[in-house]
Amino acid sequence: MTETIETDVVVVGGGPSGSTVATLVAQQGHRVVQLEKERFPRYQIGESLLPSTVQGICRLLGASDELEAAGFPLKRGGTFRWGANPEPWTFAFGISPKFAGTASTAYQVERMKFDQILLENARKHGVDVREEHAVTDVIEEDGRVVGVRCTDDAGVRREFRARYVVDASGNTSRIHGRVGGKRQYSEFFRNIALFGYFTGGKRMPAPTEGNILAVAFNAGWFWYIPLSDELTSVGVVLHPDELKRIQGDRASALLELIADCPMIADYLSEAERVTSGPYGEVRVRKDYSYIQEKFWRPGLVLAGDAACFIDPVFSSGVHLATYSGLLAARSLNTALGTTADVDETALFEEYELRYRQEYARFHDFLVAFYDKHSDEKSYFWKAKRVTGSAASSVESFVDLVGGGSSEERALIDAGSYLDRRDGEIDDMIWSVAEAGARIQVQAATGSTEDEQVPIRAGGLVPSPDGLHWSLPKQTAA
Ligand code: FAD
Repeated sequence: MTETIETDVVVVGGGPSGSTVATLVAQQGHRVVQLEKERFPRYQIGESLLPSTVQGICRLLGASDELEAAGFPLKRGGTFRWGANPEPWTFAFGISPKFAGTASTAYQVERMKFDQILLENARKHGVDVREEHAVTDVIEEDGRVVGVRCTDDAGVRREFRARYVVDASGNTSRIHGRVGGKRQYSEFFRNIALFGYFTGGKRMPAPTEGNILAVAFNAGWFWYIPLSDELTSVGVVLHPDELKRIQGDRASALLELIADCPMIADYLSEAERVTSGPYGEVRVRKDYSYIQEKFWRPGLVLAGDAACFIDPVFSSGVHLATYSGLLAARSLNTALGTTADVDETALFEEYELRYRQEYARFHDFLVAFYDKHSDEKSYFWKAKRVTGSAASSVESFVDLVGGGSSEERALIDAGSYLDRRDGEIDDMIWSVAEAGARIQVQAATGSTEDEQVPIRAGGLVPSPDGLHWSLPKQTAA
């Protein structure tokens, strides 16, 4: 007989989106099971992070100390040989007031280490994490998803029944299809990535030695990411027309492409490709960009790459994954945390709208960024247009590519949420039904109003603890 386990939320996937949503829901006292088909540490691409993840979400997760102890290289910004300007140009996150001071850095991470830290952190916060548990399908009853079926590595089958299932299983699993609608692929971003690892690559001079370096050349563009003093991640993103160049021996193809790109060839002139262990393989990924037609249905919500993916040139993948984890956690915590009638549709529409909006910012900006005939000033200006920001064009650009243009305090000033959570409003459960009480506490605590304008008429706003949705002031009054 199949064992059945009851819980509040099942999260499928142990990547950054899964660990974020699982932790932020478990922190509210709800029962969360997180199922991951691999045994960690496991390899993953996506190594260059943004301040919004490192200084924002990871602080809310309570994982900052572990991340600091891991000794990942500090990323202060990016250096690009891109566009009409033949010289490399550099930006620092720190030039934007949003990322001033200690919030101005991110990390370059080995994802095997980073993802394991977040998964262990989820465990530490009470999530029932089960590795080597592959979800095979969702369970549906009367039009609602009510759980998942899963098989562990010993072949034991189990059913997990839950009020909500989160699909955070990345871009290769099939579970997202159960939400209904199609995965829509971008006509514009249809690239192929080929990547490997090198030891002994050169470093840029301080203080940019931890920057990501992106270099355009005739066949596409290279990333060059310092993962430690010794190890460098090197990948090339090619237009599909160049597919023939990577058929056959991948390692030789990568070396030939490096030889075609003088700046990367120079940085690797004294380096050796790693040929054994998890970094020994030269891998290929189609990094075609896509977005699901629907992000949720009753009982099921998609987070991270399961919902959408956009071209990696500005390292937005883990930012979108962790931000969507936070947004989904707000909807789940609000739905689970109240006995009053909650309009589930409003909660998950808010999730979907905000996640789509953040995706669209990057998408629309990147379309312009791939116009290689423009220079950086016109890219900065485009960022200002896309974000509708009142800041200067260069600050708008840095805010966007640092993950901070949504004006979400959770991404740029997470400390203010933590202060409130630790303070006198600690015990309060924030929910739509309690919006009236929220207004009184806001008045008493002098809370800022910057997030109190909904992004659509009738929409919701983050609660003072950042982990629920509330009605905006004018609606509640
Ligand atoms: P994942 O990290 O894919 O995690 C999903 C997890 O679910 C996996 O551990 C998987 O084993 C598990 N899983 C899958 N199916 C099941 C199942 N049936 N049952 C249980 N578990 C399951 N992003 C950046 O931020 N910076 C970068 O520099 C960057 N570079 C990139 C370069 C390339 C070429 C590509 C293609 C992507 C890049 N990304 C980058 C994007 C980044 O890899 C992803 O956006 C990010 O990993 C998404 O996180 P996630 O948690 O949604 O999914």
